[in-house]
Amino acid sequence: MAKQYVYEIDGKLYANLTNRCSNACTFCVRNYDTDRRKPHGYEGYDLWLDKEPSAEEVIDALNKYDLASYKELVFCGYGEPTYRFDVLEEVAAYAHKKGLRTRINTNGQANAILGKDISERLCKAIDVIGISLNEVTPEKYDAICRSVFGKKAFDIMIEFAKLCVSHGGNVVFSVVDCIGKEDIEKARGIADSVGAKLRVREMIDE
Ligand code: SF4
Repeated sequence: MAKQYVYEIDGKLYANLTNRCSNACTFCVRNYDTDRRKPHGYEGYDLWLDKEPSAEEVIDALNKYDLASYKELVFCGYGEPTYRFDVLEEVAAYAHKKGLRTRINTNGQANAILGKDISERLCKAIDVIGISLNEVTPEKYDAICRSVFGKKAFDIMIEFAKLCVSHGGNVVFSVVDCIGKEDIEKARGIADSVGAKLRVREMIDE
């Protein structure tokens, strides 16, 4: 039974809360891990879940690690973590109690997914809010991220980022350098206008 709720890569702990996502990104790592008979999964972990974990199950999985020797818990797995926002909040509070910093990698569509504004609560639970900007216009974003919210997804994400910044959140947009210099500069402009930081990641060929 696949229940990799917590995993470790390069000395960091990650929480895998769900396989649901409002996007179907063309570049998603899940696209390369569709054969569940293969043993490798992602970095040796099988992140496809047979069921979504409760907060208690994630905390139990966390406690299998010596938490004192880690600095950070990242909410990032085979899905958009905010689908499980209540669980995320509880696990993040536990992580803080154990002295861990918390970070999330999100597509920024939580408010549309959940039908309510959770930005203020997210800022209390999470120390670094990483939002995958990916692209610089609604059309370009839609072409590669293929959100259930269609071309509105881009503005939904930007609005969410603004709300997080307004609540004092440490928001970091990310793009991959393959979008080109011109669009990286546009992304920088978007980040500046929102009050967020921008992280430009290097394209990694599989
Ligand atoms: S937002 Fe993340 S999990 Fe969802 S499809 Fe895109 S890359 Fe995959």
